[in-house]
Amino acid sequence: MTNEQWLARSRAAVWHPCTQMKLHETLPLVPIARGAGAWLFDFDGRRYLDAVSSWWVNLFGHANPRIGAAVAAQLDELEHVILAGFTHRGVVELSERLAALAPPGLGHAFYGSDGASAVEIALKMAFHYWKNAGRPEKTGFLSLAGSYHGETLGALAVTDVALFRDVYAPLLKRQATVPSPDARTAAPGESAKDVAERAALALEAHLAQHHAGIAALIVEPLVQGASGMVMYDPHYLVRARELAARHDVLLIADEIMTGFGRTGTLFACEQAGVAPDLLCLSKGITGGYLPLSCVLATDRIYAGFYADEVSRGFLHSHSYTGNALACRAALAVLDIFRDDGVIAANRGRSARWTALAAPLAAHPRVRGFRHRGMIWAFEVDTPRADFARWCFAEGLARELLLRPIGRTVYFMPPYIVTDDEFALLVARTLEIVDRA
Ligand SMILES: *Cc1c(COP(=O)(O)O)cnc(C)c1O
Repeated sequence: MTNEQWLARSRAAVWHPCTQMKLHETLPLVPIARGAGAWLFDFDGRRYLDAVSSWWVNLFGHANPRIGAAVAAQLDELEHVILAGFTHRGVVELSERLAALAPPGLGHAFYGSDGASAVEIALKMAFHYWKNAGRPEKTGFLSLAGSYHGETLGALAVTDVALFRDVYAPLLKRQATVPSPDARTAAPGESAKDVAERAALALEAHLAQHHAGIAALIVEPLVQGASGMVMYDPHYLVRARELAARHDVLLIADEIMTGFGRTGTLFACEQAGVAPDLLCLSKGITGGYLPLSCVLATDRIYAGFYADEVSRGFLHSHSYTGNALACRAALAVLDIFRDDGVIAANRGRSARWTALAAPLAAHPRVRGFRHRGMIWAFEVDTPRADFARWCFAEGLARELLLRPIGRTVYFMPPYIVTDDEFALLVARTLEIVDRA
């Protein structure tokens, strides 16, 4: 079968995510036959460098032999078992290892299947915690301007991206937002830390007035991904941690995108030296192999549900909770982090690749070039209203999978990309920016 045949069948039978399907009358789908390392191959033999890690999930490349072998071994042992009333080796080992690696105090792992379900779990847990504590009036949630926490109804209520949210507004219990500490909003002479302090003062004012009705503050630590790779100073997290504690508001860190090394440390919260009350993980947790998410909770929250009454327990479940294949993939990912010293090696990659990207940062059409850890982003000053779609197509023509957000172009490649591959990514992106 050729690309042409697969894309016709896909267009007819598959309703693709985050897509106006009519656009595929003119913009072809890309049917992928196989992957290897950072490359994807279509049915006509063309290749694409996966510069977005297949929506931010892939860490160690496609068809990674170590993760593949671990999942294959698990297939012969146990594919899945109900996690209510039962347990298994993979879920126990994974929970213990995540607790040991996460910021201190997060020793209780609750599993879901994807990022949005982890956010739903964290929100419900926060509300129910306060209800059990005799504070049922704490029903509100606070998020940052430009936040993204997923697209199910609860997660969407704390998401501040108009394109995803506005159509469904009548279905949502709309939640309040506070200003984002977006470092790009610095006034002349102001540092990123000053911006963070300014946003923290706004948070402080909001909490002082509304804390009695607020169950939790939810943040994407250091990088707000889906609203355009908005980066901010760790100082904001230090202040948010302190303010939330002072006002009896739980802090939920949504590290679904930032976790597993993306921002340079295993978890972004480490760079501020803070531990949240609830930590949401997904995306990179299985290296992009299988859907899995996890919410890590503190002893204090866990204890708030531990009682004789069934209804004080956290009565939430998904059928694939703690799936054995996904847990084994996640354990293989943690082995790679440990055995290959990935976090230390990434510091070198991050520095070398930032140097390679210097011509982009200096390009006259590029604005706001920024980078943190293994994420690079910038805005393109272009009159093209359809820039994102145009750039995606120009990328494909140059063997690149790029998926700009509005006029923001970002690189978030798997960590196994070579220096030569990153140089190729920069050179071909420069060609596209030249023509923008
Ligand atoms: C992707 C993402 C989610 C949602 O995860 P899904 O698996 O797509 O449901 C939530 N929060 C953040 C920060 C994300 O990047």
